[in-house]
Amino acid sequence: NEEAEIQEQVEKIFVSVRLRPLNDKERARNSISDWECINNDTIVFNNSLPERAMFPAAYTFDRVFDCDCPTSQVYEEGAKDIALSVLTGVNSSIFAYGQTSSGKTYTMRGITDYAVADIYDYIERHQEREFLVKFSALEIYNEAVRDLLVSDSTPLRLLDDPERGTVVEKLTEETVRDKEHLQELLAICEAQRQIGETALNETSSRSHQILRLTIESSAIDYAGPGNSSLLAAASVNFVDLAGSERASQTLSDGARLKEGCHINRSLLTLGTVIRKLSKGRNIHVPYRDSKLTRILQNALGGNARTAIICTMSPDRSHVEQSRNTLSFACCAK
Ligand code: ADP
Ligand code: MG
Repeated sequence: NEEAEIQEQVEKIFVSVRLRPLNDKERARNSISDWECINNDTIVFNNSLPERAMFPAAYTFDRVFDCDCPTSQVYEEGAKDIALSVLTGVNSSIFAYGQTSSGKTYTMRGITDYAVADIYDYIERHQEREFLVKFSALEIYNEAVRDLLVSDSTPLRLLDDPERGTVVEKLTEETVRDKEHLQELLAICEAQRQIGETALNETSSRSHQILRLTIESSAIDYAGPGNSSLLAAASVNFVDLAGSERASQTLSDGARLKEGCHINRSLLTLGTVIRKLSKGRNIHVPYRDSKLTRILQNALGGNARTAIICTMSPDRSHVEQSRNTLSFACCAK
């Protein structure tokens, strides 16, 4: 039964790795990929260079997606169940984590589109229920929160609401009329994000984007209109993270001071939070240490479900960052 399928709980964080193809530039300088995906869940480093001995050859996750794998498959096997749990009242978050240019935005755009299509397909098939869909979108840049649905870039404050937890003050929350309306809203966010990027150089590598769909559903009471009873309410968050090089702890001593100011607090805290969550219950989780983790608290802990798609560049020159990404992915398991 479909309901049971969606509700089927996977307690831990679902961690997958997606290797992108070599791009034209990389191919033009005859770069080669040393990474190979085997067995659907293992990625190996095939290289005979001396540094090869310095780290494990094989890494195993819930799922690995090779460079020829389409986003539809990444969605089906790495995000769909978790995203659709929003329809049964379970909060969730889908993250893309990886260095700049590894494919986070490419992956999250696709995942968001597939999820939106499935959510509206589900809504159409459940005429006995009434659905209220709301959408909001924000960006966190240097620990400042900005609404992606308005052109006003005034930073927004976070407030603690006794019932709802952390809320973003004055954040636009649009009631979505239908799928086409949602697509328009997504296009607005995309444009807002690009305006931000042009104004501040390369913000995409430094900012986090959260797209949030909140869905409430009620049983339609045919005895009397307006008397429907709430069945489920939850949010799903699609999170395109800042480049993971912003959390890099492995810089050489000389570079550390200079790079220090670029270290991204939200990204570092997210790493800590995810490590703690994957270790189990009854552990202090420092959600309050960053804006990102405060905003996502209800969609990370408790009975919320989380998927992390770690995106990786195959290029040999990126091997250091690729290793860092895999280490992060290992910690999240
Ligand atoms: P990021 O958001 O991590 O900085 P992008 O998503 O912008 O990276 O990807 C960098 C470039 O690589 C873009 O031009 C994108 O279209 C391309 N790309 C990323 N992943 C894939 C993929 N799986 N297949 C084809 N092209 C990809
Ligand atoms: Mg990006």
